[in-house]
Amino acid sequence: MEKVQIDLNRWIKESVREEEIKSFLGSSGNDFINEEEIEELLRKERDPEPQKIRDIIQKSLSIERLNPDETVALLNVEDEELWAEIFQAAGEVKKRVYDNRIVTFAPLYLSNFCINSCLYCAFRKENKKAKRRRLTLEEVKKETESLVSTGHKRLIVVYGEHSLSDIDYMVDTIRIIYETKIGNGEIRRVNVNAAPMTVEKLKRLKEAGIGTYQVFQETYHHKTYKRVHPAGIKSNYKWRLYALHRAQAAGIDDVAIGALFDLYDWRFEVMGLVYHTIDLEKHFSGIGPHTISFPRLEPAANTPFIQKTKCKVSDADFKKLIAVIRLSVPYTGMILTAREPANLRREALHLGITQTDASTKIGVGAYSENSGSQIPERQQFLLSDTRSLDEVIRELAEMGYITSFCTAGYRCGRTGQSIMNLLKTGKERWFCKLNAVLTFREWLDDFATEDTKKIGENLIKKEIIEIEQNLPGLFPKFMEHYRKIENGERDIYF
Ligand code: SAM
Ligand code: SF4
Repeated sequence: MEKVQIDLNRWIKESVREEEIKSFLGSSGNDFINEEEIEELLRKERDPEPQKIRDIIQKSLSIERLNPDETVALLNVEDEELWAEIFQAAGEVKKRVYDNRIVTFAPLYLSNFCINSCLYCAFRKENKKAKRRRLTLEEVKKETESLVSTGHKRLIVVYGEHSLSDIDYMVDTIRIIYETKIGNGEIRRVNVNAAPMTVEKLKRLKEAGIGTYQVFQETYHHKTYKRVHPAGIKSNYKWRLYALHRAQAAGIDDVAIGALFDLYDWRFEVMGLVYHTIDLEKHFSGIGPHTISFPRLEPAANTPFIQKTKCKVSDADFKKLIAVIRLSVPYTGMILTAREPANLRREALHLGITQTDASTKIGVGAYSENSGSQIPERQQFLLSDTRSLDEVIRELAEMGYITSFCTAGYRCGRTGQSIMNLLKTGKERWFCKLNAVLTFREWLDDFATEDTKKIGENLIKKEIIEIEQNLPGLFPKFMEHYRKIENGERDIYF
């Protein structure tokens, strides 16, 4: 037992390389979150002039990233009618960049051993009531089989931070996931949410063929960060802040940022996300975050901190923060998860969301081992929306959104610089549409219930007409692909 602890202590020590942070710091040695500057900006301009806000909206509609003073102006709007204009513009920006498609994925928790002490998480080391488990490779296969048999093509795999789920385990589990196939069911893109790593480990993650690497800063406010991460590797703010810089340096050019709302003032966190975006762009030739996430705290078993937080974001403010992020970073993908209840997801979708999860289970082993209710002591937190993939897709189709299982981007080299250019010039939208229709066709034929199929067929007809009208040059090739899929071929894309 003592030996195990000594080995774990050594592993913890070797997991952080301070020299890999230094190369990204400014000459002052400070990181890019200047709290005084942000607080000052937030204080400066209350209730800005409507014309100023409308000019900012126009900039965003031309797919230009906003500067911090422009984001602040949006955050400080008080007039509700002006907010209505912001909401409308947020939806319009999303349409210009990504069209009416929503990408769907499922999270897959593989191990919940963790050496950290995040006060808000049921997997924290101190929570003795958590049931700990690391899936065997055979179990990973079973979980993947459950997911692919409903039609999922994209996963985000999740690991606690521990020597038991270090890079070797990650690489092995990702390989098993890609190898698992049932009929037409297969995973074509594995994204990763895991603790910050060294460049050396990140290079191995890249070699494993991952899509996006995602790390949330949780809170950008230094003092709050320290308070809610009192111990463990995660207490090192800068190691986490530059996790995605290291990922880019290791060649992973689809990186995903996020903040966990409810920990500190929501306006400050939005500013943190914008500064993070700007610093990534600065260091990596304009390549900002592939996606931004904005989870809010959900209840978690034996985790009293959550009820005590004083910064709870109301639903009304939550919609505002989504719209402001959308306008501030028009090219980025935005992820809304099953943490949020179905009714709110429905409303927030129109504010520029591009991705959402469905049929989500977050207990380790939960997809293949239990069908119904959530198991608090096995979960990191509790979900609000547990609807099936079929139900979510049907609802999206009823709302006029086409679900996309497209995974073409990273397999065709549309990542990093190349995808950024396509997004910023509004060209990616058309790749999105073509591939959304092709993958939706596959899913309708392979996995949809009869009711969903009916609604889906109407939507697909409408989409094909739009493609014919807007992309006459590509239309014949598109129809050739489409017919092949109707005849049973799979995984054809632009
Ligand atoms: N161990 C990895 C890490 O900390 O980076 C993976 C974390 S976990 C799957 C992904 C995210 O869930 C965390 O970064 C955090 O933002 C969020 N999270 C943790 N506890 C939560 C809670 N109680 N409610 C909502 N989100 C939570
Ligand atoms: Fe561990 Fe991540 Fe939970 Fe923190 S949020 S305790 S690092 S699993």
